[in-house]
Amino acid sequence: MNEAIDGKQNAQTVTAHQINISIAKQVAGLVKSTLGPYGMDKEMVDAAGEVVMTNDGATILKETKLNHPSAKIITEVARTQEENCYDGTTTSVVITGELMDKAQDLLDKKIHPTRIAKGFALANRKAQEVLPNMALDVNDDILKTVAATAMTGKTAEIDGDHLSSVCVEVANATTLDNISIVRRSGGRVSDSIAIAGILVDREKSHHNMPDKVKDAKVAIVDVDITLPEFAQQVQVQVTDNAAVQEFIESRKEQLHGIAQNLIDSGATVIFCMRDIDRYVQEYLAKNGIYAARRVARSDLEAVSKATGARIVSAIDDLKEEDLGSSGEVEEIKVGEKPLIKLTGNKTDAAVSVLIRGPTQSATDEISRAFDDAVGVTTIAIEDGKVVPGGGAPFLFLSKELKEYANSVGGREQLAITAFAEALEVIPSALAENSGLDPLDTLIALRHLHSSESGSVYGVDVEEGGGKDMLKAGVVEPTRVVSQALESATNIASQLLRIDNIIEMHSVKEIGDDGFNY
Ligand code: ADP
Ligand code: MG
Repeated sequence: MNEAIDGKQNAQTVTAHQINISIAKQVAGLVKSTLGPYGMDKEMVDAAGEVVMTNDGATILKETKLNHPSAKIITEVARTQEENCYDGTTTSVVITGELMDKAQDLLDKKIHPTRIAKGFALANRKAQEVLPNMALDVNDDILKTVAATAMTGKTAEIDGDHLSSVCVEVANATTLDNISIVRRSGGRVSDSIAIAGILVDREKSHHNMPDKVKDAKVAIVDVDITLPEFAQQVQVQVTDNAAVQEFIESRKEQLHGIAQNLIDSGATVIFCMRDIDRYVQEYLAKNGIYAARRVARSDLEAVSKATGARIVSAIDDLKEEDLGSSGEVEEIKVGEKPLIKLTGNKTDAAVSVLIRGPTQSATDEISRAFDDAVGVTTIAIEDGKVVPGGGAPFLFLSKELKEYANSVGGREQLAITAFAEALEVIPSALAENSGLDPLDTLIALRHLHSSESGSVYGVDVEEGGGKDMLKAGVVEPTRVVSQALESATNIASQLLRIDNIIEMHSVKEIGDDGFNY
């Protein structure tokens, strides 16, 4: 009886591993063809039927419905990578897939999954230890190449040189949480700009309001600026003409009071999250006050942070001390529509970037790429260390780990060698996606890396073979590589251990050997 259960359990174990490996390979296969500057764009259709064009690994996995728990675990890699590094998502998923593929070979050789996981962990530890040996210190020129590398291949229309300059300017000027991006299509990418201040994607609510207010006193309101009963859309029943007239007059008077109260506070610019009554708008315009309605909460928060204005929910309670200050609030026309620009604010940490692009989808994609590039550049500034890209780190680590494996011995040695081989999937995929022969490229690169100073060589995606990636301007933060390895190793081990858990349960349930593994 026990034997029968045991046998059945083993059979299940094998199947579960195979499923995990097959899923890991499928998920990796989904994004592998997008890796690198010549990676293919994927056209995806989201739940609302909208077409999303992207070659960003994380976006693809987000938009793809992956229902199997193991597939979800693998997409975790991309999420962790994006959260920590803003880049390297495709790389991390592709490595995870390859590690699982190599694990399959080892399982076929009857090596226990725990051993494999242990070997992978040892390999990762060694990789983390030796990676800094090939790293370089950051300077401003390098930062620009870091930004450019992060944006390569993201969209055909990209003006990489201009955008990477803007990117370094912004990353040097402030911290990530003070950067906001506004997108506007129908223009040239080279017209994208960064401004020290805030851009709000809104316009004045009444045409008679001024276009520019100097030394602005800014009020922020997150409720409707109207009479309370109108905000709640209460129906009022009136019977005769005189009553109607009286009602209108009293309403006007009350609205007048509301507007006057806003003016009395000293506000000269008002940002409202909800609607502003037309009569109030008119009255504010007459008094030279600038007011915008339906402003996004995130914009209100940014304006609040920059100008020092308090977000107010009771309009009859607005006081001078609730107001913020801005040197100049100006409505500028960008493309078809206006934008509100606030400069010379109370605190000057905020930086806004206006991303222009030919079409909405191109602008969105450029904006996503820019957003990631700012993150990547910030990481390079924070850590101060970068490595040559184009697969160079993985070739370097692969070589180091193959040597290391020999010194370890035992069954773990096989897993370390497998890990070392798996890393070559990155240069191999970069070559393949560029229309080069992956094996020829690998052979050329392994040869270049065998020399003392060979670690700068990555895939020459234009000419084939290897090229000095520093000379080619392909550079990325060390953290992007180390994090990709770290999470790929963790997730691969997790997937390998899932079956162990089933095994442990089965042993416990059977309870025939008394051991608690
Ligand atoms: P990920 O989501 O992993 O960042 P990408 O599609 O952005 O995937 O590709 C990143 C890889 O492409 C990195 O290994 C990077 O070094 C490499 N890469 C970028 N530009 C070049 C280039 N001009 N030549 C060779 N490799 C490049
Ligand atoms: Mg990238």
